[in-house]
Amino acid sequence: MLLLDEQPRAGGQIYRNVGVDGESRPYLGADYAAGRPLVDALDTPGITAKFGATVWRVEAGPRVVWSRDGASRIQAARHVLLAAGAQERPTPFPGWTLPGVMPAGAAQILMKTSGLLPRDAILAGSGPLIYLIAAQMIDAGAAPRALVETQTPATMLRAARHLPGALRTAGTLARGLGLIRKIGAAGVARHTGASAFRATAQEDGDIVFSFTAKGRTHRLVTPLLLTHQGVVPSTHIGRAAGIGHEWNDAQQAFRPKTDAWGGTDVPGIHVAGDGAGIGGAEAARAAGRLAALDILHRLGRLDEEARDREAAADRAAFDRAMAIRRFLDAAYAPPPEILAPEGDTIVCRCEEIDADGIRGAVKEGAYGPRQLKTATRAGMGPCQGRMCDPTVRGILASCGTTPATPRARSPVKPVKLGELAALASIRETST
Ligand SMILES: Cc1cc2nc3c(=O)[nH]c(=O)nc-3n(C[C@H](O)[C@H](O)[C@H](O)COP(=O)(O)OP(=O)(O)OC[C@H]3O[C@@H](n4cnc5c(N)ncnc54)[C@H](O)[C@@H]3O)c2cc1C
Repeated sequence: MLLLDEQPRAGGQIYRNVGVDGESRPYLGADYAAGRPLVDALDTPGITAKFGATVWRVEAGPRVVWSRDGASRIQAARHVLLAAGAQERPTPFPGWTLPGVMPAGAAQILMKTSGLLPRDAILAGSGPLIYLIAAQMIDAGAAPRALVETQTPATMLRAARHLPGALRTAGTLARGLGLIRKIGAAGVARHTGASAFRATAQEDGDIVFSFTAKGRTHRLVTPLLLTHQGVVPSTHIGRAAGIGHEWNDAQQAFRPKTDAWGGTDVPGIHVAGDGAGIGGAEAARAAGRLAALDILHRLGRLDEEARDREAAADRAAFDRAMAIRRFLDAAYAPPPEILAPEGDTIVCRCEEIDADGIRGAVKEGAYGPRQLKTATRAGMGPCQGRMCDPTVRGILASCGTTPATPRARSPVKPVKLGELAALASIRETST
């Protein structure tokens, strides 16, 4: 089996670097350290793991095209399991692209990879991850100055009806409440029901962050504004491979259409983990095992009965982990002003297209992501829409259209022309 991961080391998002730095960064917590056995298990005969290996195309066959050290290869496979994880949802508001404003998850990545601590930061947005990151900052001795949260009593009330289901994962709920208690005990100010985010830069480079909460306008000054509005599945590779996708209204994101095993409508490709729909680490682990069992079955290595027997515990673990999702999705739903910004708020960072530009093109008849791309170039920069697709979709929906799934094309990650040209002379390898 060949595992390709573009990161330099095993661990994915949550267990990033745990194999090397797990013990030296205790503030990342027990849930982080729990990834160590998973990473160690890669050292098993039959598994070849290649890191720094970026997959930029998956095509019929299936075949996987990937790049490492400046050279691309084509790998034929009997089956492909896509597990590209999640990415942070973009958080567009006036000033979100200024230096000194960055995604909270990016700051956490710096904590995990280089022990760099975000000092005197303000965390702004919503979602369970914001509490985890705040708690990790507190334990690291770099407590945030404040948490500015967008969820309102109304969203919490809407979420409350999903509480009975969420109680199946009482442990996860208790962990979340523990994080909120820790934030309170550390004396970190919390503003909830916040809206109308705006960031401007002072002459000394600090950020002036203004927002409205409980009828008052607040202005806070910080060297670092960390934003977060939850995560969405990374679907670029799957969409470029032709897998059918659907809109998930509860999660406000596209997800691949899969069966109960992660099987897709493209022969030979399964999808598992957050890339198939946000469920968190425990759901991702169970979904990965379920997909693996089904792949073994399809390859004739496991009969149906054995597959179903082996899968029982993982199916139960998956259902348990997902039981809290409806509550979380409703409680921490991103607000409309973030999903569909207005005015001169930048939407496409690569091409510097603002919300007015997108709305103007919609008025002139660009009714879908493809037409908008042609009309404005939104999504045509180096990130290929990874940053702006969700916002373009949000604006289209706010203009009364039902946006189609945006197309993705390979290479889904930037590759040098020389690499593409050299591909022709590279022979396929097979797993
Ligand atoms: C920035 C961020 C921080 C997060 N931090 C936490 C946290 O601290 N705790 C928590 O509980 N949850 C966290 N989450 C949520 C968490 O990532 C997921 O619930 C969990 O990691 C899902 O596991 P997964 O295996 O599906 O994806 P991941 O763990 O993200 O693994 C996906 C892997 O695919 C690789 N990959 C993606 N695209 C390519 C490509 N084109 N070529 C090659 N490799 C590729 C990535 O390098 C990554 O290693 C975070 C999410 C984000 C976006």
